[in-house]
This record gives sequence, structure tokens and C-alpha cells, in this order.
Amino acid sequence: MPEMQALSERLDALLAGTTLLRIELLGFSSLKTYAPAHESVQDHRLVSVGRRAKYLVWEFDDGVHIVLHLSQAGRLDIERPPKTTKPRGSAVRFVFGHDEAGLDGESIGVLVREYGTHRKASWWVLAPCDEGPLAGLGPEPGSEAFAEIMLTSDSRRRLTTDLRDQHVMSGIGRGWGDDILHRAKLSPFASLHSLSAQQREALLISVTNVLAEALELERAREGGLSEAKLGGRFKVHGRAGEPCPTPCGDTLSRVSFENYEMTYCPTCQTGGRVLADRRLSRLLK
Ligand SMILES: [Zn+2]
Repeated sequence: MPEMQALSERLDALLAGTTLLRIELLGFSSLKTYAPAHESVQDHRLVSVGRRAKYLVWEFDDGVHIVLHLSQAGRLDIERPPKTTKPRGSAVRFVFGHDEAGLDGESIGVLVREYGTHRKASWWVLAPCDEGPLAGLGPEPGSEAFAEIMLTSDSRRRLTTDLRDQHVMSGIGRGWGDDILHRAKLSPFASLHSLSAQQREALLISVTNVLAEALELERAREGGLSEAKLGGRFKVHGRAGEPCPTPCGDTLSRVSFENYEMTYCPTCQTGGRVLADRRLSRLLK
């Protein structure tokens, strides 16, 4: 959420009020809809760029919206003026211009690129009432509905699973999830069902604070609108083997799954217990 929120704010400040002059399809697999036709959005004014979960939502003056998911390997390049090249991994280029708010006839390109083949950038052109991939997303941190889940949900799934399930609560993801659980001193294998009222409150406060701090850093960050690398921003996630930042004197540990790993501090979160590394124990069976 923090990265996408800050990105949507920058794009909104840069582009709201301009007109979408053209869409250049550079890679055909990234567009997930065929109606309305993407060409139909051309010549419409961009009202705003916002965010929902990890999606950027581009609202146009006819109510049509473009929803863009950068995924983990996607990024945006701003081109002033727009280029005509097709760099490797290019998915689509949006060209905006004719702005009343001061572009002075200059146009701006927004190039969506993806690195790697696993997690692709995707975008949807949606009619006014069509939610597309936004349908069924869980509430956002900061909302009342979100707080209610934290304080009352009887979910017996692992916290780490609920935190990154976009249909339960949106916009957190596994990286910030690790940092949030560490801050709240909760085991990633605990469930909402197992938490005391105090622990639930600690979790809610941790979500709020970790995301707010991340957003503040992200808003202040310089050097491009988006970057492929996120790793350095986390205090715990992806840092197994490094000292716990509390600092409690312990070393951060990890549990590996097929596609990801979860990082935690045994002393701060699991009462000193080192959790079995699932991948390793399966290999040893
Ligand atoms: Zn610790």
C-alpha cells in the first residue's frame, strides 16, 4: 500500500486534468479486457489517479477507468517528452497532454514495464460500474471495517496468511505483514482467533504505525516514480540472519515456503521458539 499510495499521489499531481492522447500497446498479454476498447479512452480527460489495494485507478471524465496492477516486477517510467522506443519488458505507454493546469502543450509519457516473467503487470479498461479486479477486495487499513476485522474476526488462519490475503484485508502484502507482526510482537503462526483483546489492539496499532511510517518515507523518497526494488525498506522482512532491530540481541529467523519466505524474531515474537522451516522439514521427511 505505501508504495502504491505515494505513486498514485505523484501521478495525480502530475497528470490529473490532462487528456489521454494515445495508448500504445507494446506487449499484448498485459491488457485483460477487450470491452470497452482501450482506444475508447483516448481523448478523454483524466480526472484523478487513486489507489485501491495494490491497484492504481485512473478515472476518466466519461466514467471509464483504467485499473493498473504493477505486480512485483512492474514499474512505471515517466517520459518527458514521451519516447517512441520499446524497451525490453514494455507493456504499454500512455501519453497525456493538452493540459489546462500548466503543461503548456508538452506531453508526458507513462511507460509500464515489467522485469522478469513471473509476475506480470496487468491493466483493465472498465466501464463506469464495472469493478473488475477490485471486486471483492477486503477493507483498507485505516477504515472502520478494517478495525472491526482486527478486533472481532474469529479467523483461525495464520495471521501472516490473513494479512496478505487481499480479499480479507487489502493493501498490506507479505513484506509489510512481516514488519507489522514483528512490531506487534506476535507470532506469524498465531491466528486472530487466538489473540487476546490487548494483542488485537497491538496488532491494529502496529498496522497503522508501520504503514504510516512507510508512507511518509515513500512520499519523501526521491529518484523516480517507482522502483523495482523494495527490499531495503523493510526492517524485518527479507532480513533473516541480521540482528533484530528492537534490539533484543537475537537474530532474525525465517520460514520458507515454496514462493516466499516469512521473517520473524524468535525472542520478540515466538517466545524464543524457532519455527520449523517447512520447506526444509519436507525435504527431510
Ligand atoms: Zn527481537
